[in-house]
Amino acid sequence: MLELKNITKKYGDLSILNDISLQIEKGEIVSILGPSGSGKTTLLNIILGITDVTDGRILYDGEDITNVPLEKRGFNIVFQDYALFPNLTAYGNIVYGLRNKPDISTKKDVDDLVKLLGLEEHLEKKIDQLSGGQKQRVALARTMVMKPKILLLDEPLSALDGVIKESIKDKIKEIAREYSLTTIIVTHDPEEALTLSDKVLIIDGGRIAQYGTPGEIVHTPANNFVENFILNQLEIKRSNIFDLFGRKVS
Ligand code: ADP
Ligand code: MG
Repeated sequence: MLELKNITKKYGDLSILNDISLQIEKGEIVSILGPSGSGKTTLLNIILGITDVTDGRILYDGEDITNVPLEKRGFNIVFQDYALFPNLTAYGNIVYGLRNKPDISTKKDVDDLVKLLGLEEHLEKKIDQLSGGQKQRVALARTMVMKPKILLLDEPLSALDGVIKESIKDKIKEIAREYSLTTIIVTHDPEEALTLSDKVLIIDGGRIAQYGTPGEIVHTPANNFVENFILNQLEIKRSNIFDLFGRKVS
């Protein structure tokens, strides 16, 4: 349903993305995985519609949306730093987008989402009274009440750790499944990508290194970059992750 065809992005002479082609089906969770500076955020912003392409096309349900502005694409993003309004309560932030479009979500839709994300107790708090995990959940709720056709997340877990990280990861999965929501997540953490998504797009220097299921990537890495990137980054977690996919690590 979302198709990228030969996407290329240049800033001046500098090539940021090279010939990126891929297809994402409705309801799939896809991670964009790669080292810092590999072009992940640029690709996400191109899909969102805030960055234009130098070459290539974007199709949604077969329709060419390459030149469709972001507000008409109907996709929505949770930025890496959450970008919440500090002078509003958690609830004020969640319903902010509905001011001008009140028909998108009913009171019950909002309540259901608040419940799903476990935010009932925190609605009247100001943003600076919330923990990192709570802010992340508010940011997710704020985006979700707008019922995006595609949910984009830029490094949603990078500011979190331990138990909180795991619980947000579960919430993202739960929401994506509950709403059959196509979800695209940028991350530099292989463990996150492999455990969270249906498909993983690995990019290296603006080119696709591999696009496949977590199982395919672990069992049949397409090249040395994929093999090394995943192995090196996993380090201690290595045995766990490979156990998960039934692959022995020597
Ligand atoms: P990632 O999210 O994978 O860390 P980015 O997509 O943010 O990578 O950046 C990829 C490359 O593009 C980097 O080398 C970055 O410096 C460059 N870049 C990003 N935005 C711009 C811009 N507006 N102008 C020039 N170069 C940019
Ligand atoms: Mg980035």
